[in-house]
Amino acid sequence: MAIFDQDAELMDRRDMAQLQLERLQATLHRVYKNVKFYKKKFDEVGFLPEDCQSLEDLARLPFTTRQDLAAGYPYEMFAVPLREVVRIHSSTGSPGAPIVMGYTARDLRNWAKLAARVLTAAGVDRDDVVQVTLSYGLLTSAFGLHYGVELLGASVIPTGPGSTARQVQIMRDYRTTVLVSTPSYAQVLADQMEAQGVDPKSLHLKLALLAGEPWTEGQRREIESRLYLTALDHYALSEAMGPGVAGECEHRRGMHLHEDHFLPEIIDPKSGEPMPAGELGELVLTTITKEAAPLVRFRTGDLCRLLYEPCPCSRTLVRISRIKGRSDAVVIVKGINIFPGRVGQILAAIQGDEPAYQLVIGREGHLDYLEIKIEVREGLFFDKMTKQREFLQQLTRKLAQGIGVQPRVKLVEPHSISREAETSPLVIDLRK
Ligand SMILES: [Zn+2]
Repeated sequence: MAIFDQDAELMDRRDMAQLQLERLQATLHRVYKNVKFYKKKFDEVGFLPEDCQSLEDLARLPFTTRQDLAAGYPYEMFAVPLREVVRIHSSTGSPGAPIVMGYTARDLRNWAKLAARVLTAAGVDRDDVVQVTLSYGLLTSAFGLHYGVELLGASVIPTGPGSTARQVQIMRDYRTTVLVSTPSYAQVLADQMEAQGVDPKSLHLKLALLAGEPWTEGQRREIESRLYLTALDHYALSEAMGPGVAGECEHRRGMHLHEDHFLPEIIDPKSGEPMPAGELGELVLTTITKEAAPLVRFRTGDLCRLLYEPCPCSRTLVRISRIKGRSDAVVIVKGINIFPGRVGQILAAIQGDEPAYQLVIGREGHLDYLEIKIEVREGLFFDKMTKQREFLQQLTRKLAQGIGVQPRVKLVEPHSISREAETSPLVIDLRK
């Protein structure tokens, strides 16, 4: 199997540690000098950039959270003047203020290279035709892989999300070999093929690169057998860059993390203390090459393990295990852990656009119920589905499959939730 960047991906681990330390020191100097937020945080704990003499010293610094990034809206977290920023992405900001991500020209070059590493590790080469069904827009999801495909010299079809029947037609006519999507949208595509009577075996698909939501080995098996391809996981974290942070190789033993650009730690999500190697905890990342918007000890909220055992592919990069879910905002309904953000991902996978929504959890007698309110926007969801009842049933079924609990779905007036995005919580728990 090919390796895109042998120098980095096969680097001796001691050399890697040395490279990481040098890059970390440079990053800490840069953010201390250029980002008020970090200067204040470092000063509060009496830490000067030159105090970083080993990688362990990083643990003396406080964490950076999504709330911190949102509070810096729009440009407070940038470490370079705006004239050096050549691309701006942002999160949807629902609920709360959006998080703005900036990229210098060098950041974009690095992004394409790292995406190319992920694609190569998955087995993509210049003969492939890659259909990207992720969202092209403010979100980082589609662009990162898009430029990685081009850098590799493969062909990219930027369909973006939605119009599922047309996606299948393009897949067939353009002889797509690689699908880039979310796991739930891969399932939507499989449903569509069934409905259209298209046999996946008659297509040229060989690989699906899936990310954007927590998914399971069970979903992997289902997608692989229904679409007749190999499905691989990768890790896309917008705040750190987007897709390209980590990806599985053919051996599927976790996702190789690009440690020469992202320094990982695993912490206990409750105490914030570092966890021993191999333990399940929250992933914390420090970016060590990003110029425009570097992150120091960013709490990803994603639960996983770091795997240091050698991989048969010979890459020496540490691997992160499949993301087990999120450490924050978990609600338990009928004994099942629900990650509220998952609902948004499922809705986005159906239409490619995340509507405003809200979870209301209550109890009737001894039984919990979950109501999901979804704001209807013009044109939303009614792609080939004009009957509201049918639509509601299908939506309820998809949500139930995705979160493991049968919800009551309620469509609400435009702007009734989003209008109050700053103040209205994503989850209202009436049981308390
Ligand atoms: Zn490997």
